[in-house]
Amino acid sequence: MIKRADLHTHTTASDGRLTPTQLVELAANIGLSTIAITDHDTVAGLPEGIEAGKRLGVEVIPGIELSTEDNGTDIHMLGYFIDYQNPDFIEMLHHFQMIRLERAKKIIEKLAELGVHITLEEVIQIAGNAASIGRPHIAQAILNRGYVSDFQEAFDKYIGAEGPAYVPKYKLPTVEGTKFLYKAGGVPVIAHPGLSTTPDYVEFLAKNGHIRGIEVWHPEHTPEQVHTYYKLAEKYRLLKTGGSDFHGVPGKSKLGQVTVAYVSVAALKRAHLMIRAQRVDARITDSFRELAGIG
Ligand SMILES: [Zn+2]
Ligand SMILES: [Zn+2]
Repeated sequence: MIKRADLHTHTTASDGRLTPTQLVELAANIGLSTIAITDHDTVAGLPEGIEAGKRLGVEVIPGIELSTEDNGTDIHMLGYFIDYQNPDFIEMLHHFQMIRLERAKKIIEKLAELGVHITLEEVIQIAGNAASIGRPHIAQAILNRGYVSDFQEAFDKYIGAEGPAYVPKYKLPTVEGTKFLYKAGGVPVIAHPGLSTTPDYVEFLAKNGHIRGIEVWHPEHTPEQVHTYYKLAEKYRLLKTGGSDFHGVPGKSKLGQVTVAYVSVAALKRAHLMIRAQRVDARITDSFRELAGIG
């Protein structure tokens, strides 16, 4: 049987509907050899997913999808084979989780001043966990309390960018985000560039070594976008990846809807080993410099 891999999936650790175990069970049922779990800004689902993978014979690649920003544009950066137990990496994620929580608190305060009373506990319950709390969860809480008649109204009337309870979001700069990934041994791959950015920007990232791959295949990429980013990946000798961006939401993409052949996984592994080796190299150089009393 040909081994196929879906390299972009979400679980309940972020905004997916399936638990890591359920996701891996589904992968096993549809005959995928490999999946990458790439939750938004958290690695919380990885230990359970990897464990389930061992039990069910599915290879689970530890991954993440970092929310970053460059010049006002949201850029999602996938990181593959990250060392999800790396203390610096965990601390960085924790720091951004605290920032998100603080922002939610500020929005809730502003809403209260406007006579809209929701609690942080409600919002956390809707989000499933405090780590991935965001405006959609706040909108849901406003809706649940009956202050608005639909989800969009909560944004239009209160928490949208023009709304009176809006609080701007601090976002991790894209290049900083890729540095964090490299430090944790991760392979940075720009997610669905066709949905978020331009070929020029991807070229900028590629030329400067900020990414090692492009997510060429994504359910929402047009055939032209696939072609453009395939060519770009060839030009800069970048890895070409793909996945379904599966969230378990009915009507959206299905697990395994977009897959890549196993050679892509093997290439990611090689890239990860090289990044890790360079990191060890850098550490050895640092300790020699320290011993020699250089800077
Ligand atoms: Zn994304
Ligand atoms: Zn995604």
